[in-house]
Amino acid sequence: MKALVYHGPGKKLLEDMPKPTLREASDALVRITKTSICGTDLHILKGDVPTVRAGRILGHEGIGVIEEVGEAVTRFQPGDRVIISCITACAKCENCRRGICSHCEQGGWILGNTIDGTQAEFARIPWADTSLHHIPVDANEEAMVMLSDILPTGYECGVLNGCVKPGDTVAIIGAGPVGMAALLTAQLYAPGDIIMIDQDDYRLDVSKKLGATRLINNGRDQAVEKTLAMTLGRGVDVAIEAVGLPVTFELCQSIIATGGHIANVGVHGESVPLHLEALWSQNITITTRLVDAVTTSLLLKTVSSGRLQPRQLITHRFPLNEVMSAYDTFGNAAKTHALKVILTNE
Ligand code: ZN
Ligand code: ZN
Repeated sequence: MKALVYHGPGKKLLEDMPKPTLREASDALVRITKTSICGTDLHILKGDVPTVRAGRILGHEGIGVIEEVGEAVTRFQPGDRVIISCITACAKCENCRRGICSHCEQGGWILGNTIDGTQAEFARIPWADTSLHHIPVDANEEAMVMLSDILPTGYECGVLNGCVKPGDTVAIIGAGPVGMAALLTAQLYAPGDIIMIDQDDYRLDVSKKLGATRLINNGRDQAVEKTLAMTLGRGVDVAIEAVGLPVTFELCQSIIATGGHIANVGVHGESVPLHLEALWSQNITITTRLVDAVTTSLLLKTVSSGRLQPRQLITHRFPLNEVMSAYDTFGNAAKTHALKVILTNE
């Protein structure tokens, strides 16, 4: 089968690989019909994720059709159309039973990391019963791909951890796919204002169409002063950090209101100053989280009803055999205006 294989920092190739087979009774073999590329895949290619070894098939997002199931799989059968969660959950270990499936003792984020992933014609999915979701009959398949990772990530790590409430002023720093997913899902809670902060005017324009009420280009403008001016000096109730840089996390600390929540979503590669000298008395909450994908079913219902329309985040489409061009397009988002790319294999 064709698959996108990682060969160490900066190196990837579309190659012929052996078709995966079932290994455990709880596995399913899925024929991938649509997959995508995540910002995390770019981090891997930079060499930021040492758990990914050379020879690994990348990808942790996608949908497909069940080809074969192990004898312990009860909820799925060959022919079923499924969403693959980026988080593999055994549903039995202590962390899974606490709802922290991202730290499943026999799973978590393993696809395209410690086991072969979804940017391929087929993928083996461990713990299939509790790591796959049925696709409703009349669902838009491209929208379903957004349920693998970005929607639950934006919602769980940003909106739920940020405790977004009706009337809140929410700032989202970073208008990439996950920031946009936080923007879409925050609106389920009817916040007052959503201030989108990014350095890319194109992404800011898109965020306005998706529901942001105020925009700040922090490449041009002083984001702290502007945000404080917009909030009459109070700051924001919720600051969602969806970039992963010290400067953007510090921005959150400078604009957070008394009693506010800073919800980190970004993947950080270096330490960040924590300004406790200013914040110790301000009753704020700072949260971190790796997506647990425990809200996928809930989000699937909001997507199915049309209340949530994540398909708007898809900007480019490629056949799987053009995955190398798809990476170039996704990796040059400032020029190509890419948000999510869909790779189709049908
Ligand atoms: Zn992802
Ligand atoms: Zn588990």
